[in-house]
Amino acid sequence: MDGVSLSDPGTHCPGCGRPNDQCGGCLWEYDPPHYCPRCGTRLAVNVSPAGWKARCKQHGSVVG
Ligand SMILES: [Zn+2]
Ligand SMILES: [Zn+2]
Repeated sequence: MDGVSLSDPGTHCPGCGRPNDQCGGCLWEYDPPHYCPRCGTRLAVNVSPAGWKARCKQHGSVVG
């Protein structure tokens, strides 16, 4: 399946990439994610006036 939603319960914090048992989530609600919530890999993030787009190499696009 392609794509990850931040509202899905992931295994990693999208703010710092640490496993959920080490971080309860430090990302601000309207900030773009920096790490994939599924695998904790650093995301490629594009920020534009319309919003942001984030992409994980393994999981595809990450949406808010
Ligand atoms: Zn965190
Ligand atoms: Zn991923």
